[in-house]
Amino acid sequence: MAQMILIDMIKLRNAMVEDSTLQLPEGLFYKSDNDNGLKTIRELAVFRFTCRKCEDAPCIAVCPADALEKDKDGIITRHTNLCISCKSCVTICPFGTMMTDFFKHHRNKDLLYDLTDQGELDKFIQACPVGSVTMVNSGESPQENIYALNENILVKDYLYTSEKL
Ligand code: SF4
Ligand code: SF4
Repeated sequence: MAQMILIDMIKLRNAMVEDSTLQLPEGLFYKSDNDNGLKTIRELAVFRFTCRKCEDAPCIAVCPADALEKDKDGIITRHTNLCISCKSCVTICPFGTMMTDFFKHHRNKDLLYDLTDQGELDKFIQACPVGSVTMVNSGESPQENIYALNENILVKDYLYTSEKL
């Protein structure tokens, strides 16, 4: 099995709680000339795994820019070209799904890492809180709260489910 990048969202959240001034490094899986409003792996992971997927999603209703919508699988997606970074969606989400630093328009380029490049991947791992990003030779493991975001990335997080476990 090819090596995968395991991002522990639980550790990242805890690190942010322990240090409110912490600016997390951001992993990206594509290059872009426009660094404003990029969708990071954390944003993709949170909407996929942590979001409760509210039926009448208040985040969509409150967005003044019509920047949020659900995709065909019911997963919230943000149109970065429309988002004005007002954070109304962060405030109204009753479950605190989103981390407050998701929607910055002006990102610190020093914190962005292209994970398709081995050198940048190594730097990303070093820059992240200790133990929050690791390379593994395993795949999904729901009993350990580990799920695949894509073919390269595993995310460890508490998956929301309305089913009794
Ligand atoms: S309000 Fe929060 S939990 Fe509900 S759909 Fe929006 S982001 Fe997800
Ligand atoms: S930050 Fe504001 S504009 Fe952007 S998605 Fe959230 S509510 Fe919409």
